[in-house]
Order: sequence, then structure tokens, then C-alpha cells
Amino acid sequence: MDQSLPVTRTRHPKDKPADPNKLGFGQIFTDHVFHMDYREGEGWVDPRIEPYGPLVLDPATMAFHYGQTIFEGLKAYRFPDGSIRLFRPRLNFERINRSNDRMVVPPVDPDFLVGALKQLLRLESDWVPSAPGTSLYIRPFIIATDPFLGVRPSRTYRLMIILSPSGAYYPQGLNPVPIHVETKYVRAVRGGTGEAKTGGNYAASLRSQADAHARGFVQVLWLDGVERKYIEEVGSMNVFFVLGGTLVTPSLCGSILPGITRRSVLELADHWGIPTEERRLSMDEILEAGESGSLSEAFGSGTAAVISPIGELEYDGVRIRLHDGAIGPLSQRVYDTLTGIQYGRLPDPLGWMEPI
Ligand SMILES: *Cc1c(COP(=O)(O)O)cnc(C)c1O
Repeated sequence: MDQSLPVTRTRHPKDKPADPNKLGFGQIFTDHVFHMDYREGEGWVDPRIEPYGPLVLDPATMAFHYGQTIFEGLKAYRFPDGSIRLFRPRLNFERINRSNDRMVVPPVDPDFLVGALKQLLRLESDWVPSAPGTSLYIRPFIIATDPFLGVRPSRTYRLMIILSPSGAYYPQGLNPVPIHVETKYVRAVRGGTGEAKTGGNYAASLRSQADAHARGFVQVLWLDGVERKYIEEVGSMNVFFVLGGTLVTPSLCGSILPGITRRSVLELADHWGIPTEERRLSMDEILEAGESGSLSEAFGSGTAAVISPIGELEYDGVRIRLHDGAIGPLSQRVYDTLTGIQYGRLPDPLGWMEPI
């Protein structure tokens, strides 16, 4: 889309990071930010690109107090020919509207925002790293900006898009991780905000994550908030199990975040003719399948890691090892294919990559 937003260029461009092995995640930000405001009666107005820098906000800004915030996460990748591509970006801006609806934030125009993002990326194209496994992480987000302490939806909002060059998630290859099955805390309940990418969900998960880390686990597996029996997500990723050769993931029951990687893994498996199921999946079933040997692999899925293999599950003191703690063949195939498509090393049979 040819679009021309007003641009204020920075007069102090930063040095680009020299060592692609030291990018880490979410620590370095580019020179420019996309901004857009919402005002009641006017709609979303004043889209523009400005230099990166601190915001000046009233201490009473509603987002600070009651958490009316939304975010998204996607990546831009450098292809072997030097061009820059996005992975299914429209899905992120459609999902932002579903999150907005849940949090009573006014809807945005997904096509306009994909166009705005592309203009921002063209301006910042030198920031897209090219070393293996690196990418430019893209963080669109919205905050409620009324300076007001009453509990009601804000009447003004700010949408921003910031960009962060990010290092390889797995510099040493995919490393299966130990996971604690959380039985004390829950992430979300049906009817709550688990389906929305809103900040409070992540604040609510920190206690559990900190306790699991202290006990040597990398993440937690979340069970449903009512019966505490059914599997929902792993950390802030969707979760898949290979059960008797079928790829199974919990159905989107109202408390699970509908991941774009999740959807892509299901579509890829369909494309390959591998059977998939989206259904209720209990921890008891996983325990039994672990004992009988029909459980062969498990992995998390999300934009940051793409695939995060699970090496071990700990549930009420019982430990289930998966694929002897090594990555399984289907997990590896999904990872290699998705990243192959994203970095332009493999053909893109489902038409997922979009030039900027
Ligand atoms: C963002 C997110 C995911 C993964 O979504 P992707 O679109 O695949 O990145 C899964 N679960 C939670 C809770 C998330 O916030």
C-alpha cells in the first residue's frame, strides 16, 4: 500500500548494534515510532512517525491505574536477497481489534495500520538485522490516556508501534525446557480477559513464573481456571502435544489467546496431511499417554520463539520426560519449516510472507 504519513526525522540517529550475537530481546529500539491518537467524536486521528523518545504523560493517565492497554507482537525478517518481509501481519491487526473489543477500546483499521507499519519499516530498514536467526521485533500497543481516576472506558487513546532488533532465540539450537504444571494459580478464566492481549494478563502470571523459576523450571503449564484439569497454554505461548501421531492443541474455549503461530502450525500440519485436533485436553490424559508411551512430543508456539520444545513436565511431584528430553521429529520439522518460510530459505506454499 502506498501511504505517506507525516514524518519527523530524528536529528540524532543511534549507532546500529555492531554485534548481532548481542542483540538479546526487547532491549534496543530503533530511531522512530509510529503514533496515532483517538479522541471521542473524532476517531483515530493524526497518524505520524516521530523520533523515538520518552512520552510525557499525566500521572492520572488511566492506563497506569486500571490497565486498559492492548499490545501485539510480530516480526520483520531479512530475506537472502536483502528484501524485508512480514509474517501474516494482517492477522495481528485483526486480533488487535478483538482485544480492543474486549477492553472497550475503539476499533482500528487493520489495512491502514499494515500500510503504516510498512512505511515505518521502510524508514527503519537498516535496523532489520541479517545474521542467522535475528529479526526486527514489532510491538504495536494502545494505552488509555484520559487523565481521570474513575473506572470507565477512556475517551482518548494513543496507539504506537515501536521496533526492536532481536537476536536469535536459539543461538545454540533448540533446547527442550522443563515445565512446571501450575496447580495453585490460574492465568485466565472463561469470561475473563485471557483471549485478549492485554497487559494485566501478564502481570497476573508473574507470581507463578517467579515461583517456577526459583524451582528450576523455565515456564509453567496453565490449567483451566474452573476445574484445574484441562490444559490451556504454556507460559505466554500456545501448546501442542503429539499423541499417537496426532497433533493436538487445546480448543479456543474463551480463555486461550488465539496465537497466529498456533494457527500457522495447524495449517501447516493440514497442508502436510498430518492429523490435527483442537479439543479439550486434560492433564490426566497427558499423564496416561505419558505412561502408555503414546505421548511422544510437546511444544509451545509463539512469535518470539516460534517453537519451544518441552523436555519434561512436572505435575504434583510426578515427572514426565518427553522424547528423552530431546526435540522430537515433528517439533523439529515444524520449526525448520516455519523459520524456513519466514527467512525465505524455503518456498512459501501458503502465501504467508508479505513484502514491505
Ligand atoms: C501472544 C501470545 C501467544 C502467541 O501468539 P502468537 O500470535 O503466536 O505470537 C500465546 N499466548 C499468549 C498468552 C500470548 O500473549
